[in-house]
Amino acid sequence: MPAKTYLFPCLKDNNGVLLHDPESGATAAIDAPESDAVEAALKATGWKLSDMLVTHHHADHTDGIPALKERHRCRVVAPHHEASRIPLVDVTVQEGDSVKVGGITTRVLETPGHTAGHISYFSHADKLAFVGDTLFSIGCGRVIEGTPEMMWNSLLKLRALPDDTRVYCGHEYTDANIRFARTIEPDNPALAARAERASQQINQGQPTIPTTIAEEKVANPFLRADVAEVARKVGLADAPAAQVFAEIRARKNSF
Ligand SMILES: [Zn+2]
Repeated sequence: MPAKTYLFPCLKDNNGVLLHDPESGATAAIDAPESDAVEAALKATGWKLSDMLVTHHHADHTDGIPALKERHRCRVVAPHHEASRIPLVDVTVQEGDSVKVGGITTRVLETPGHTAGHISYFSHADKLAFVGDTLFSIGCGRVIEGTPEMMWNSLLKLRALPDDTRVYCGHEYTDANIRFARTIEPDNPALAARAERASQQINQGQPTIPTTIAEEKVANPFLRADVAEVARKVGLADAPAAQVFAEIRARKNSF
């Protein structure tokens, strides 16, 4: 039976996601921005929390852990390199490890850059990726603890996932990301199409995620730092892709 997901808003602009295995009943929260919103999502779905899959240590992804763990006795899975900064961790994982949520198997991808130990979770069978604050729809996370080159390599790892992978990211930033992306690629028709669809979704009060790898490849400038036209647009024709990426990221920081 295919995995189910349930998306809900948390805090100011975080995305909360539940991942559910209908066969076993196992349910994981992807990060825990705040316990009340996760509780409300569990109530709405009738699912029972068995696991928490944490992507990185930031408070807006982990503050809900203690209350949820106390109430549900769920297992907390966290990145090996950040476990000491995350409360009540049961299992630490790193690149290539498998994490099972009932019958759903996810693989751990180390995607550092936003934080030094950030990880993502990918289910090949269900074509689902939970990427935290590494990749956003038409954007990417700020490079806080790593280097631009590290972040670029993490994005390449995510870009290599199957095109039809549905991507759940940590924040609803799509609208602002599109406004920025259009300063880099004003003539990109895929970006214009995405802008059109996103504004419809936002006007209808709908979330703009999940996105897909295919969609991000054609419209997200941060995944396109190795496209000659993008390099030229930021005045770095023939520069290494990591340098082009760094330039785009720096421009976004001051946008
Ligand atoms: Zn973060």
